[in-house]
Amino acid sequence: MAKNVFSEQSQNFPTKEIIEWFRRNRRSFPWREAPSPYAVWVSEVMLQQTRASVVIPYFLRWMQKFPTVHALALADEPVVLKLWEGLGYYSRARRLLAGARQVVQEFGGEIPSSTQDLAKIKGIGPYTIHAIQAFAFQQHVAAVDGNVLRLLSRVFGIDEPIDRAVTRIKISSLAQQLVPSCDEAPFFSEALIELGACVCKRTPICGHCPLQAYCVAWREGRQQTLPRRKPREQIIKRSRWVGVILYDNKIILEKRPESEIMGGLYEFPYVENEIGWVEQISAYVGASLKPILDLKEQSHLFTKYKVLLIPQVFSAEQPPRLPLYTFEEASQLPFSSGHKRIYQALQEAYLFP
Ligand code: SF4
Repeated sequence: MAKNVFSEQSQNFPTKEIIEWFRRNRRSFPWREAPSPYAVWVSEVMLQQTRASVVIPYFLRWMQKFPTVHALALADEPVVLKLWEGLGYYSRARRLLAGARQVVQEFGGEIPSSTQDLAKIKGIGPYTIHAIQAFAFQQHVAAVDGNVLRLLSRVFGIDEPIDRAVTRIKISSLAQQLVPSCDEAPFFSEALIELGACVCKRTPICGHCPLQAYCVAWREGRQQTLPRRKPREQIIKRSRWVGVILYDNKIILEKRPESEIMGGLYEFPYVENEIGWVEQISAYVGASLKPILDLKEQSHLFTKYKVLLIPQVFSAEQPPRLPLYTFEEASQLPFSSGHKRIYQALQEAYLFP
């Protein structure tokens, strides 16, 4: 796209219409009711890769348990991960905890407002910086999330893949130019996100869009081909044979090492080779195993992996060498989501009180 067309189009951008549209269509969310810097930070981290409807109960529970940065900074990691259980991408929870501790140690518990200071906090990236500045500190900046990337790539007919860093920087810089200088600037940033989330969705509802007259994609009939993305990384399929092993009314669980994707979460022992898998697990836990029953298979998708979990319940005939937990203790531990569903299936099988 020619540079002069791009800037001419941004000058005519219908800021007032977008703010008006937002006033009429704004959705109510708990994090919008009292947008403190901490509430914005927590909600924005939870909303990364997760739908708002899913986030609401997690956000409410989190704010009840950790109402302030100080409360979060004092929390133990297993308690934090347990509260996050089911949201996925657990590194987000670990980074929030590390960030809260840093805010207490380096900023006296007050989340700063400047870009320079916010960027020092672990886990706070460019989008979250702008979200905190716009929604909590009412600064004149645009927070550019996936919704805004999709929206602006269509409105301005941007052909570069939006999952490239250089394109994200380009669109973010364009969005900053669009922010009006009036008092309503913070509304504008939220309005762009809302418009992307509710109208310029994957399948856009162009008939309800206040940007239709300005939209290159609509004019050229390219709503389905924009935004562009890089070719997808191939999904890797794996199978894991999982031993749900009981001994003395307790259960074997392993905490995954911090260096792994599921670091800090608990899982049942498993192997990835079907041949002689029961013998492999038996040798691993150091006990002979007596099969009790099969549990339902579970599919678990994370990053580029799709893992099929094939669980079977056993009783160990000798004391195993891996850690054992009572069911009361296990219920308090954070599980990875596939193993959580296996644990729930075990509960449903009424194998323990
Ligand atoms: Fe998106 Fe359609 Fe609006 Fe263009 S007109 S911004 S494609 S919803």
